[in-house]
Amino acid sequence: MSAPHDLAIRGGTIVTASDRFRADLGIRDGVITDIASRIEGAKEEIDATGLMVLPGGIDAHVHLAQPTSDGTVMADDFASGTRSAAAGGNTTVLPFAMQVKGTSLRDCVTAYHAQAEGQCYTDVSFHLVISDPTPQVLGQELPALVRDGYTSFKVFMTYDDLVLNDAELLEVFEVARRERALVMVHAEGHDAIKHMTRRLEEQGKTAPYYHAEAHHQIAEREATHRAISHAQLTDVPVMIVHVSGRDPMEQIQWAQKRGMKVHAETCPQYIALTRDDLKGLNMDFEGAKYVCSPPPRDIDSQNAIWEGLRDGTFEVFSSDHCPFFFEGSDGTGKDNPRARTSFKWVPNGIPGVETRLPILFSEGVSKGRITLERFAALTSTNPAKLYGLYPQKGALVIGADADITLWDPAREEVITQERLHHGSDYTPYEGMQIKGWPVRTILRGQTIVLDGVVLGAKGFGAYQTRGTSGAMA
Ligand SMILES: [Zn+2]
Repeated sequence: MSAPHDLAIRGGTIVTASDRFRADLGIRDGVITDIASRIEGAKEEIDATGLMVLPGGIDAHVHLAQPTSDGTVMADDFASGTRSAAAGGNTTVLPFAMQVKGTSLRDCVTAYHAQAEGQCYTDVSFHLVISDPTPQVLGQELPALVRDGYTSFKVFMTYDDLVLNDAELLEVFEVARRERALVMVHAEGHDAIKHMTRRLEEQGKTAPYYHAEAHHQIAEREATHRAISHAQLTDVPVMIVHVSGRDPMEQIQWAQKRGMKVHAETCPQYIALTRDDLKGLNMDFEGAKYVCSPPPRDIDSQNAIWEGLRDGTFEVFSSDHCPFFFEGSDGTGKDNPRARTSFKWVPNGIPGVETRLPILFSEGVSKGRITLERFAALTSTNPAKLYGLYPQKGALVIGADADITLWDPAREEVITQERLHHGSDYTPYEGMQIKGWPVRTILRGQTIVLDGVVLGAKGFGAYQTRGTSGAMA
């Protein structure tokens, strides 16, 4: 007879990336210590009868408290962003420590840690963003940071203050290969977007809707193929993030069929929204609530994304949570004097860290498009593997952190701004009907959210140093 458990989760159905089975889970000191048909004598018990017991959600793509080029303040800091994440069934999030051009990457990472310290409700770990690949950054700072556990970083093929040219991309890819870091690519063709933007503005087409035309799927397809080609030339695995539609997805499949190590991520906005949402009520600023890059596409692309989620083209489903305010002169809406002159000034990004899992569960699992096992893989196990957190995170096995989300597959809810915990003053998913809801979030054995009520303490969420990406194996 083993020592008593601190906590037993009893009577539920355990779901992993590969299996589902009826068993009890025993937890001691924040770690899973037993999985058995019957566990008795724990200090505390949770009755999970009728519930699904899944690995806690890992959102591998969120933006919190990031500096912006125009000084726009993001709607979430670490406290509100991770509180919102926890309420949405997540136990770990990975935001980006962004290098501000002209500054030291290491200093940016240190400053970002200071912002997170003592503020988090979920566990966190940082990707890096490389915006200024100087010899100092590529030769010294980045290699040292990778060795310290920052084993993934993002680069951008667009945005004036972030874009890397092809020569820079190739150099950065070489560093990723040498240091065994996973490089994440925002693939949209910068010059094509700028050209389209100019032409649209000349025609007086400045409403938020035209963001979706300027950031055309063809520009995303071209950049996706270019990133894949650069990765092939430098022989390095890449992760193409936030893939929006059929065209870029086909480029990824083209590479995967040829055995290239091209990984891909997609997001809720590409299965739950279309470009028509950017029209708002009558080509008005309500459409600004849906401005993100890449933008949502059309029904054909939604169908394509579902195929990719089913067949394994996409291994990761993240939110790309990038929260702004809608109201106010600093917001994305009509009160922002610059945004009124052109869609190109509308801050790019939508909130979604709290709605990611319910949307995929409802639209995917409840509607029979993906299995529960695939859901667990896409939202927790695969990101843990690809970002060096596995098997401490993303796995329900003995010895793993007891990061667990209990789901009621029958519970029906409606997404409303009122019930969410994020900092933004709106949700792009207002009124969406959901079947299947996270009813309890457990982080390292502690219930941090129960029935939408946040019980966890600010600061219980801890920074997680990561190992090498599974993509480098
Ligand atoms: Zn991006």
